[in-house]
Order: sequence, then C-alpha cells, then structure tokens
Amino acid sequence: MAKKIMWDPGHGGSDPGAAANGLQEEHLTLKIVNYAVEYLKAHYTDFEQRVTRGHEQTLTLTNRDDEADSWGANVFVSVHINAGGGSGFESYIHNNSGASTVALQNAVHNEVLAAMRRFGSTIDRGKKRADFFVLRETNMDAILTENLFIDSNDANHLKTEAFLKAVGEAHARGVAIFLGLPSKQVSQPAPLSQPQGIGNLKVLENTVIRDRPVYLGNITGQVKTGDQYIVHDYQTGWFNIGGWVYKNHVQFIPHDDVKISK
Ligand SMILES: [Zn+2]
Repeated sequence: MAKKIMWDPGHGGSDPGAAANGLQEEHLTLKIVNYAVEYLKAHYTDFEQRVTRGHEQTLTLTNRDDEADSWGANVFVSVHINAGGGSGFESYIHNNSGASTVALQNAVHNEVLAAMRRFGSTIDRGKKRADFFVLRETNMDAILTENLFIDSNDANHLKTEAFLKAVGEAHARGVAIFLGLPSKQVSQPAPLSQPQGIGNLKVLENTVIRDRPVYLGNITGQVKTGDQYIVHDYQTGWFNIGGWVYKNHVQFIPHDDVKISK
C-alpha cells in the first residue's frame, strides 16, 4: 500500500510565527514544504502526500493533526524556523516516541544537516525530544524540525532560495529513506539514432582496398572474410570504407533511408 506523508508547514494565516530580518516563519516553512513535495513527486513512487495548509491559511493546532490521523498518514513532518537569537539546526520527536520515530528523526536530521552544511558551517543543536502538541497528538511517526534562526545571522541563509530548496529536498530524502520509497525510474528519451555513413558492409571474401574506386587504383590494404565496416560512400560498384572495395566481394546493408543505384 502506498505510504502516506503529511507535510505541515508551521504557522500560517493569522499566525505568522516568528518574524525578523524581513522574513516571516510562515512563508519560509511553506516554501521548504513545497520544495519537499516537488522533490518527492519527481524522484520517488508508491506514496501519497498532503500538506496541512496552503498559503495564508490559518490552522489551529488541532486542525493540523486531525487530517493526518483520519487520513491514516504514516509520517507527519512539521517544518519550523527557530527564533531566540541562536544558530543552527535541531529536530524534535515526542518524549514517548519509540524506535521507529527515532529512525525517522535520524534519517531526516542527517539529510537536512548535510544539506545545510553545503552552504556553510551549521551548528548541530541535536536530535531532541519534547512534548510539542503536533508530536503528541499525531498517531504516526512524527518529527518537527527547527531550520536555523530567523533572528540571527542564520537569516542570511534563510533569505537564499537555493538554501530553502536544498533544505526542502533534504526533508523529502529523509522521509523517503525512512519509508524505503522506491526511486522513480528516470525515463531517458531514446537517443535520436544518427547512423554513421550510408550503411554497413560485411566482407564475403578476402579482397583489397584501393585508393580510388577503379581497378587501376593503388592497393592500400586488404579486408578479410567476415570483417564488417561502416560504408561512407558508393560509386559505381565501389564502396568507400576509408578506401574503396569492390561490390562483388562484400555484402552491403544500407541504412533504411539510403538507396543506391547498382
Ligand atoms: Zn514555529
């Protein structure tokens, strides 16, 4: 059965969350979640995902976990931005969480921290536990991430779209790793066939290669029975395979769209 993932962008609407440095937590969390959703869609299969709120939508805390519970989500991920003048990344699971939720925390925490560190040194504030409402009231494995501080120098990263994207994608990878989601087979378009030359030939009996398409041409080499060559040109009975060989000694297999006069 498809795994169900509920994404929860912290705050929103009449509850903007923390604000500083021209940034609002509700907007950052929604961006991170949207990047996570897009990344999962693009790279994995066998899952369904929902988001607790849209843009400028207000949810009470109770609203947040209700849908996840009634839908039967397997994983609940609540994304937040920290405030209070510190620095770094931390994640939370509930005080009473068991081994499964610890595994979720390990997967997401490690992916997100690694992604942040590609943008510069990032303090690991740790894999923590707390009695947060959304962690307590959700019936499934649930994690809450605090992605840097909105009111410290961390804000420089939070102003960078590439950073938010990387953090969102890391959340998605962490969840995918935890759930063991199969990777999507990325379908490569078949390369446009660009056959070389006008066809191929197979040597039927040993013969010589001449420098011109006539019997008077100088012999420059020889070909052996069974050898195969790409044919670049044809002139009145002679095939050019680099030098010229006479048609009686070879079998010519033209490319589909090539016609030659015998
Ligand atoms: Zn928050």
